[in-house]
Amino acid sequence: MTQATLTVTDPVMLEFAELVGVDDPVAVAGARTRWDVGGPLTEGSRVIEAPSGVVDYIPEEMVVTVRAGTPVAELAAVLAERGQRCALSERGGTVGGAIAVGQNDLNVMGKGRLRNSVLQVRYVSAEGRVVTGGGPTVKNVTGFDLPRLMTGALGTLGLLGEIILRTNPIPAHSRWLGSDGADPFAVLDSVLQPSVVLWNGDKTWVLLEGHPADVDSEAEAMAKVADFTEVAGPPELPPYRWSLPPADLRQLTGTYVASIGVGTVFADGPQPTPKPDPVAQTVAQRIKHQFDPTGRLNPGRNPGA
Ligand SMILES: Cc1cc2nc3c(=O)[nH]c(=O)nc-3n(C[C@H](O)[C@H](O)[C@H](O)COP(=O)(O)OP(=O)(O)OC[C@H]3O[C@@H](n4cnc5c(N)ncnc54)[C@H](O)[C@@H]3O)c2cc1C
Repeated sequence: MTQATLTVTDPVMLEFAELVGVDDPVAVAGARTRWDVGGPLTEGSRVIEAPSGVVDYIPEEMVVTVRAGTPVAELAAVLAERGQRCALSERGGTVGGAIAVGQNDLNVMGKGRLRNSVLQVRYVSAEGRVVTGGGPTVKNVTGFDLPRLMTGALGTLGLLGEIILRTNPIPAHSRWLGSDGADPFAVLDSVLQPSVVLWNGDKTWVLLEGHPADVDSEAEAMAKVADFTEVAGPPELPPYRWSLPPADLRQLTGTYVASIGVGTVFADGPQPTPKPDPVAQTVAQRIKHQFDPTGRLNPGRNPGA
């Protein structure tokens, strides 16, 4: 395994490992804002909590070490004191829950993808061992890339105790602009780096973030494509989150808000389940078996569901 260290002396992680134990079915609960994602937890499973708190923050190097049970809002407040933020969305969850679920924030084009911002994970394995994967300065990775593997795995491969995240500066200026009838794909092409482009088939919303002069010049470039006016923020998003290739976005019908350039669609109903890819299923099963041979970690959840 990549960068795994076998001798961890941090008493907090060792205590968490003891809590996880070695043999019974067990899951970590965060703030339960996405508790049923991936299916219901198998009845009778023991539910525990991950340790909490910001361990170390080096604003100059733009990295923060944080325990998985820390509320995202608490981490965001610590980072904001130094004019920074991270890729996690502040929606009432914990850092570990957000990484286990693995969803990007709405302004992913500005903040960066969650999976790329997880530099190191420290988790408890199915055998009850503390494992460290990745690192703040890792360049040459061989074997499994554990931070990327754990992001979105719903705690089925390891129970997260501590994470090192990349941070980035809070933009000095931001503007939400809206247009009736603008072609969102033409808008995306006209702007160097919008943070969000949303489209409901009729109206387009754009978030521009950055230095005030850059934001204003991006707004001028967009004005050549369509008429835009200042708006308060994004529209209300339908509750279900779909993932679609960009080419399919033009074929959408019904009530939806599509995030252009990202491939996420917020819709009124669940995404029709695609036909399972047998090769991907076999790979996923083998990885699961390697990490958790007895199926004791977060049983019942399926990250692919
Ligand atoms: C309406 C709404 C919209 C949201 N939209 C977004 C969005 O667009 N983008 C976004 O990033 N977030 C979004 N969130 C926030 C999201 O719910 C949380 O940030 C996070 O995904 C879940 O955190 P939680 O602590 O509530 O996890 P929980 O709901 O408690 O747990 C979710 C899953 O993660 C597992 N888990 C939790 N902690 C750990 C751990 N330490 N180790 C291993 N597994 C663990 C649980 O067992 C469970 O399977 C939204 C929330 C709401 C309510």
